[in-house]
Amino acid sequence: MKKSFNIVPITQWFNSETPLPIIIAGPCSAENHNQVYHTAQALKNDPRIRIFRAGVWKPRTSPNDFEGMGEPAFEWLQEIKRDFGLKLAVEVMSPSHVELCLKNNIDVLWLGTRTVSNPYSVQQIASALKGTHTIVLIKNPMNPDLKLWLGAIERINKSGIKKIAAVHRGFYPFEYTHLRNIPKWELVIDLKTQYPEIPIIADPSHIAGNTKYIYKIAQKALDLCYDGLMLETHINPSEALSDAQQQLSPAKLIQLLDKLNFCNAKNEIEHLELIRLREKIDSIDNQLIELLSQRMEVVRQMAQYKKDHQISILQLKRWREIIESRLQKADELGLNKEFIKLMLEAIHLEAIRIQSENK
Ligand code: PEP
Ligand code: MN
Repeated sequence: MKKSFNIVPITQWFNSETPLPIIIAGPCSAENHNQVYHTAQALKNDPRIRIFRAGVWKPRTSPNDFEGMGEPAFEWLQEIKRDFGLKLAVEVMSPSHVELCLKNNIDVLWLGTRTVSNPYSVQQIASALKGTHTIVLIKNPMNPDLKLWLGAIERINKSGIKKIAAVHRGFYPFEYTHLRNIPKWELVIDLKTQYPEIPIIADPSHIAGNTKYIYKIAQKALDLCYDGLMLETHINPSEALSDAQQQLSPAKLIQLLDKLNFCNAKNEIEHLELIRLREKIDSIDNQLIELLSQRMEVVRQMAQYKKDHQISILQLKRWREIIESRLQKADELGLNKEFIKLMLEAIHLEAIRIQSENK
């Protein structure tokens, strides 16, 4: 069933009409006073950057990783607001985080991917937000589950929060990718098509995981007319206590913004459905190639085994079984058997070539 949302357009979030895209920039984590201050100072003269992000509490995979500085960081952030007029964004994971952020005049709260993956936590945060008028950003959950993402947006919206945006930070890389997280653009296009009232912000830093891929991802998000970008920046990236590889220096961040081609967000993107389908095809082709590479790796291991045990490469009985079972499967899935047979033969020829190489 189609959900209904009551969301204030992102251009009306602040007192004056805000031009799009909204740029949120700042370090992954607030580490110390100097790091926060110097990062913000280097950004303050760029009018495109309106919101300063910084993690105060960090949900980390290992308990031995840096988990954020907690409450003392608020003092450093307040100073940024006072001295540079930047708005502040902080991640919340629990009702007590919400309470502390509101007490410390944080303007934008965001729910991270791990929190959004857990509806119980989202509901607790939603309840804590009741009666406030804060801005809440909701990152996508870890797994590419649009319903779970929409459910989180709905929970927050139902608690009376109307300034909401979805943040696209990519999905757990269960398929091969050079990126830290798989973008799955088609899923976000689906969200955009079904619920055009939900603003979408891209987080290229967490999709990329490495500064070298950020530009391409940010440009793609702009080409799809996203409403904003959230980017990680650190005064001294190589010394960052979290996400060092993906943080740009403030100077590099500004260069990136200069280089990006900003789409006029008022334009309608043409053929969104065609773009969505192309993204799906790209993702499937990548998976096919990755699977072929895995298959050939197993072939190499088999070649070694056969060599060690003096077994001949071509085992006709096995080959016949492969053909028979694969063609039956293809038939069940409505695929043309001739086509699948040709494909299997090509794969088999390549497997024999690899095994012969290994002799
Ligand atoms: C972050 O923005 O630093 C963060 C922890 O993000 P995510 O929840 O997307 O991993
Ligand atoms: Mn981070």
